[in-house]
Amino acid sequence: MITKIISEEKIQKAKKYVEKGDNFVIVTHVTPDGDALGSSLGLYHFLVEYGKENVTVIVPNDFPQFYKWMRGTKDIIIHEKYPDYAEELIQNADVLFCLDFNDPKRIEKLGGPVVASEARKVMIDHHLNPADFCRVTMSYPEMSSTSEMVFRFICRMGFFDLLNKDAAECIYTGMMTDTGSFTYNSNQPEIYVIISELLKKGIDKDLIYRRVNQVYSESRLRLMGYVLYEKMKVYPESKAALITLTQKELNQFNYVTGDAEGFVNLPLSIEDVEFSVFIREDKDYLKISLRSVGNFPCNLFAEKYFNGGGHKNASGGEFYGSLEQAVAVFEEGLSLFNPNKSEEIKPNE
Ligand code: 5GP
Ligand code: MN
Repeated sequence: MITKIISEEKIQKAKKYVEKGDNFVIVTHVTPDGDALGSSLGLYHFLVEYGKENVTVIVPNDFPQFYKWMRGTKDIIIHEKYPDYAEELIQNADVLFCLDFNDPKRIEKLGGPVVASEARKVMIDHHLNPADFCRVTMSYPEMSSTSEMVFRFICRMGFFDLLNKDAAECIYTGMMTDTGSFTYNSNQPEIYVIISELLKKGIDKDLIYRRVNQVYSESRLRLMGYVLYEKMKVYPESKAALITLTQKELNQFNYVTGDAEGFVNLPLSIEDVEFSVFIREDKDYLKISLRSVGNFPCNLFAEKYFNGGGHKNASGGEFYGSLEQAVAVFEEGLSLFNPNKSEEIKPNE
């Protein structure tokens, strides 16, 4: 038996939208990760199995190759490539699901069209402090992934039987990736009850692990070696580490989207490093990834210094300026916020 986390009122309201809706759009956050894609496609497969004929997943921009084995990825509309079509679908939707984000800012250029759409909007998400732009807001930060919430949502509507193997694979992928293959945020026993149900749907969890984690190019591994040898700076007094990569360095290693995935976690395997930041030059800004182990709230650090946010142990942000400036901001943050005394960091400071 799985605890009823999502309120009954929200489930019933969203269930009505599911039953009555004809044109469904599912939107997820920029630079979609495994949970963004897994939750969106999990819900997509369910709605198709239910009998809905017009269901589309729309993402702001492209996503890594190692997620493209998931059933349904070929039908995802990438807004950056087909803005007019994507916006027309959003405008004509009668039900719009917002998955794995809780603020229109997180979908960048899709934010305007989503907010303007008259569709009934349902948010399913697990980040802190949801913005108020949906009719139904299912926001449960204690959940380890949005994919787990999608599983709970489908079951609570009474439609477990309509959760097919394709949906189960996608949901499992999101649960796996948002917990670092069940190595953090993953002590909640019910996670494993849900996995057990997904296994009964016929998924091969070992194969999913391999497809996501063991499909990289030689150049990615060499880039990783370069990062560890040349580019990782450790700040022992702060129990922190920093990795930076410029566009030039990325080009040198034939970088493709996803090649730097997980690099931010590498320094955390050093015994005394509890906070790790990775700054990567993107087209017109710097992408910041932050991770921590234990109590250091990298979401507060991300909010304060990098215009971002996220979870306590996994956050992100952006920086508009030079790499040198971003490093200076990081180092200033380190000197002000001692990760060993994270209780000194007050929320909303
Ligand atoms: P990643 O480092 O993998 O891009 O992001 C880790 C987590 O941080 C994401 O799951 C998301 O919750 C959050 N995140 C990443 N980038 C941003 C950002 O720019 N703004 C906010 N608010 N959260 C972010
Ligand atoms: Mn997530």
